[in-house]
Parts: sequence; C-alpha cells; structure tokens
Amino acid sequence: MADTASLPIVVPSRPFSRDDKHRTPRTSRTARNEKPAANGHPLTACGQLVVIGGGAAATAVLHQLAKDAGFRPETVTVVDPRPVGFGLAFGTTDPKLRCNTSVDVTALHRANRSDLQCYLAARGWPVGRSDFVPRALVAHYCRERFARAQRELKARGIHMRHVAARAHTVRRAHHPADRYRITLSDGSALEATDVVVAVGGDQPLLPEVLREHADHPDLLIGPYPTERLRALPGDARVLVLGSKLSAVDAALVLCRSDRQVTLCSPFR
Ligand SMILES: Cc1cc2nc3c(=O)[nH]c(=O)nc-3n(C[C@H](O)[C@H](O)[C@H](O)COP(=O)(O)OP(=O)(O)OC[C@H]3O[C@@H](n4cnc5c(N)ncnc54)[C@H](O)[C@@H]3O)c2cc1C
Repeated sequence: MADTASLPIVVPSRPFSRDDKHRTPRTSRTARNEKPAANGHPLTACGQLVVIGGGAAATAVLHQLAKDAGFRPETVTVVDPRPVGFGLAFGTTDPKLRCNTSVDVTALHRANRSDLQCYLAARGWPVGRSDFVPRALVAHYCRERFARAQRELKARGIHMRHVAARAHTVRRAHHPADRYRITLSDGSALEATDVVVAVGGDQPLLPEVLREHADHPDLLIGPYPTERLRALPGDARVLVLGSKLSAVDAALVLCRSDRQVTLCSPFR
C-alpha cells in the first residue's frame, strides 16, 4: 500500500468496544447526506465508497453505515484478497487460539457492548460474560454482521460487492480531481470518491537482517496459517522472533509436542 496519507478517511484499527477511549468511528450526520468520518471529513453524498480491507474494522464501519438512513452511496466496494469478515488474527481456525478480550466487551459497535455474547448465546453457545472464546468465533460473528450489513444496504437499493484482490496504490485521480484511483493486484483499478483504509497489521515486516533468507524453507513469516507450524517435526527447535500476541500464538501451537521453543525480543 502507498500514498494513503492524504486519504479522506483513516479508520483506527480498533473495531471493538472496550472502553470509551477505543471508540469506533463516528458516523452521525452533520449536514444533509454528509457524515463525518474518523478524521472529520464528510463522506461524499451519492459517491463511490471503497473500503480497503475486509476484516473486523471494515465490518464495524459498514455495520454502522448500514444502519444510517442518511448514508446513500452509489456503490460500496470492499477490496480484500481474503474472504470478508475474517482478517488476520480472527481468521485462524485453531481452537487453541483464543481472544484476549472477554465476550462481554467484544462488539462491533458501542450501542451493544455484549454483541458477541448475544450472537453466541443466540446460536446455543453456553458462554459466560467473562469467557475468552476461540478467535474463530469472532470471525463467524464478523462475517454474519457483514452479511447483515450487506442485506440492509441492499434493501435500500445500495449494492455492496467484494473484490478479492490486494490494493497496491491509492492516488488522487488527475480527472476528476476529487476522486481517488486504487490499483489492485489483479491489474484492475477502482475509482472512488471516498476511501476507508482498514488493512490491520497484515503480514509482519521481515527484519532487514533476515531479508536475504526470505525464501528459505525454514523461515516462516508470521504464524498464520498455523498448519505450517503444526507440520514441523516433533523435536524441532524453533526460534520465535518477537514476544507479543502473534508470537504467543506461535508458542501455543508449537508447544503441543516436545519441540523446543525460544521467544526472543528486545521487549519484555
Ligand atoms: C494474535 C492476535 C490476537 C488478537 N486478539 C484480539 C482479541 O482477542 N480481541 C481484540 O479485540 N483484538 C485482538 N487482536 C487485535 C485484532 O487483530 C484487531 O482488533 C482486529 O483484527 C483489527 O481489525 P482490522 O480490520 O484492523 O484488521 P484485520 O482483522 O487483520 O483485517 C485486515 C484485513 O485487511 C486486508 N488487507 C491487508 N492489506 C490489504 C491490502 N493492501 N488490500 C486489501 N486488503 C488488505 C487483510 O487481508 C485483512 O483481511 C489480536 C491481534 C493479534 C495479532
């Protein structure tokens, strides 16, 4: 991704309501057909909205916009090479990998802070309010809420589509000047009046010292998909660079046999 600095909307990648400091973007109306976005710019009335990324943050934005009768874009296009609703951290299907937020504070919108808990209870999952569920369940929840937003928009005549590609660049179009041109990994391009960037952390950046080994079969860039970790021999000695959330995921998956795992990080 490049040239995102001057985009009209930048969505904070904290889609879940945890406390008042971590609010999802405001979408209340300020003028006819105009909404303030996260950085204060209004969405263009009857424009073409392109959402780059289709994970939890994108779902939170679309979920809120779909409920806003004043939101009347001509088109909504979600660009993500992955299926919508999953994202990187919640897209893992490994049941060992759980949320670090309990269900009663995990929700795509502030109005119902226990929305995940309600979603799970309605489907027969016996969850208590302080349970930490497998992250894959959050992906199911996000997917369902994404589909609901799509239905709600469709009922109002607004078509939302998913383009399975990676956005490469976002630039101001030469003509008309109030538009953006987004080039995609499949060689095509999209035009937009408004762009939401919700790409999350995506794949980790390889430290410079390791770049020359990027193609080495013994070097795994990131723990996902975790099948690659599970496929390592039972007596493997694994060095995990990093010690935070995804490093803990790697250790949890690897420690199921006699493998030796060492986490290494300049931070505690
Ligand atoms: C191991 C781990 C555990 C976590 N556990 C929790 C938790 O328990 N509770 C919690 O609230 N948060 C948790 N988080 C944080 C969590 O990742 C975020 O809350 C949430 O996933 C962020 O949503 P997002 O949409 O910004 O990113 P993601 O959900 O990662 O979605 C980003 C999407 O953007 C797409 N994308 C990336 N680049 C491009 C591009 N150039 N073009 C098109 N699409 C692109 C990706 O394919 C992806 O689908 C965890 C994070 C990690 C790493």
